[in-house]
Amino acid sequence: MGNSNAIPVSIAPQRHDMHTHSLRSDGTLTPSELVRRAHAAGVEVLALTDHDVTDGIAEAQTAAAAHGMRLIAGVEISVTWRSQTLHIVGLNIDPGHPEMRQGLARLREFRQWRAEEIGRRLQKKRIEGAYEGAARLAKGTIISRTHFARFLVDQGYVRGPQQAFRQFLGQGKPGHVPGRWATLEEAVQWIVAAGGQAVVAHPARYKLSAGKLRLMLGEFRECGGAAIEVISGSHTPEANRHFAGVAAEHGFLASAGSDYHGPEKTWMDLGRLPALPEGCIPVWHDWNMNVKPPMNTD
Ligand code: AMP
Ligand code: MN
Ligand code: MN
Ligand code: MN
Repeated sequence: MGNSNAIPVSIAPQRHDMHTHSLRSDGTLTPSELVRRAHAAGVEVLALTDHDVTDGIAEAQTAAAAHGMRLIAGVEISVTWRSQTLHIVGLNIDPGHPEMRQGLARLREFRQWRAEEIGRRLQKKRIEGAYEGAARLAKGTIISRTHFARFLVDQGYVRGPQQAFRQFLGQGKPGHVPGRWATLEEAVQWIVAAGGQAVVAHPARYKLSAGKLRLMLGEFRECGGAAIEVISGSHTPEANRHFAGVAAEHGFLASAGSDYHGPEKTWMDLGRLPALPEGCIPVWHDWNMNVKPPMNTD
């Protein structure tokens, strides 16, 4: 856990990207392609954090070794907190840890049922074959709403993914199925059991009041959460600054991640993250860059 007046850390330029996706979840690049592009863009330490799945990590690790890069084994866990979906990133996890494996397997079961249910709900809106279409677009073991959004774009129902979420897939829309994901406590527990650090992903994206957000961060810390994403590809510069203050106030370490999903997206490109604001303690500040970080043994 950080403390804002500890060790001064050299932070610029930003060579860490602690949040990216491959086609094992809803990105479009293979793990190897992702690593190659990150390397070409100047990233030196890259975390692969696919949604609820870790099976791209081995391939990414092999590719990273070939480029002399460090690959951080990660995951982005879907969480339901007070009927809101939150995303908790785990960094430096052992993907083979049984608690992590079993936990993620349960989430993928829900995901599968949810995908079929989204298909049924869209069918009631006279959209035929959405489940099959999304499943065809999914190249990994999970089906994400991103795949439904691509299907709806391909079939001409909407002009772009944003519209697909606004009209069909977002909260309160006809194709929306409420989440029954991990609890906040479970997600942090799986990450900590697997030897990793838990990070609240893109905190500015949640529709939580300031009070609720504070409550969530308090619970997150209580159950062993370590950091928040101060810098996110999906944050505005103002949000980045704001969450630097929140991290300092709550004593969280600070992470930075592009949330890259592939070259064709409107997401931030790889290698473009700004440096962490002064006063932040990077979540990687005590990672030994030459040796694999120690695992928790309990
Ligand atoms: P899921 O985990 O299957 O519910 O899908 C969530 C994913 O959908 C996120 O990780 C984003 O990649 C994507 N997503 C969510 N909202 C939007 C949006 N408004 N526009 C485009 N993509 C979105
Ligand atoms: Mn995604
Ligand atoms: Mn996310
Ligand atoms: Mn993400």
